[in-house]
Amino acid sequence: MTIVAIIPGDHNGDLFLFLIPLLNELRILEDGGLKVICEDGFFNFKVHLLLASGDIIGVQELIHHKGHNSDYGCRQFHIKTDFGIVKKNEFVMLKFFHGYSFFGLNELHLIGSNVTKRLWDIISGQYGNLNTTFKLHSSACSAIGKVIMESNATIPSGIFEGIFRDVSQKAGHMRSVDWIMLLQCIVPTLVFEQLAETYGAYSEQVEALMSLVIRCTLALQWKIYANDVSAIQKYLHTWDLHMKNNVSNNLYTVNFHYLWHIHEIIQKLGPLRGYSTQSAERSIGFFKKHIKSQVLPGPNNGKIIKRQLLMHNFQRVHLMDELETVLEDGDAYSLDEYPDIELWDWKVMQLEDFDHLNIERYIRQY
Ligand SMILES: [Zn+2]
Repeated sequence: MTIVAIIPGDHNGDLFLFLIPLLNELRILEDGGLKVICEDGFFNFKVHLLLASGDIIGVQELIHHKGHNSDYGCRQFHIKTDFGIVKKNEFVMLKFFHGYSFFGLNELHLIGSNVTKRLWDIISGQYGNLNTTFKLHSSACSAIGKVIMESNATIPSGIFEGIFRDVSQKAGHMRSVDWIMLLQCIVPTLVFEQLAETYGAYSEQVEALMSLVIRCTLALQWKIYANDVSAIQKYLHTWDLHMKNNVSNNLYTVNFHYLWHIHEIIQKLGPLRGYSTQSAERSIGFFKKHIKSQVLPGPNNGKIIKRQLLMHNFQRVHLMDELETVLEDGDAYSLDEYPDIELWDWKVMQLEDFDHLNIERYIRQY
């Protein structure tokens, strides 16, 4: 990833003072292209911006949207000059501008820190007397947290992106990736178990929540097929109808609404993972840690960006061999900390294929 700039965030709409020069350069690059010297000659590549993304507030600023509390709270509509959009956004001048899908939907904030966090707040009873449809007793929530902590010792940490935390005690410390893991691993197991005990295994609540988990899990895959997209659409109805009919209006936030648009965005842009802001968020974390100057943060920033670019370039040029450690057959993975342990992708094989490992003995005994 290449950082072009870090813009001071005063949220006064001055963002485009900084972005216009960049957009002008992009317009030159999409017409004139970029000359690249390769071993076998000169190549001229056209450069196009395909997507500009961020969290809801970030995109709101990019498209001059009045915000999700305005009359037209959803931004995925007429992205020109109607329906809550104050004025035409500056990206329309680019050749590849493709309407609302140009701003994607960001899985990290949408599913992670917004939908799943709100879901846990609902389940753990943070909204008092409002209609919340799912609610677990505090002892059930503590039991979930306790089991997560007890399981931690046996979870190979390197395999998961986030950390399994005691959600009943440490919800405030959870990052977006931790919330996504909670939705994919803890909700369909520990939370379902408790909800099934409270409401019954085939209750509307449990079915609705199951639909949400399936839907988000399908949408978070790296490879998504046409039947997955139809399933994403189908499961949404069960979840959404249940929420609209059973939850107080002010709990049904714009994030729940944006789930409606996931399948459209996937159809237009491909899997959400491919244009997630995860790498941008990691960079933000990096710069936050390294910017020390309180008085002149701008020049401090500039120096750090420059140093990072130089270091990356050095690594690419001088340490290329070390970077190219691609697995030969691509279906076995191991972790740096445990080089002797391998995880295998699923495939059809026979016991005889493993004669040299005496695998029959292990299967019988363990
Ligand atoms: Zn909408």
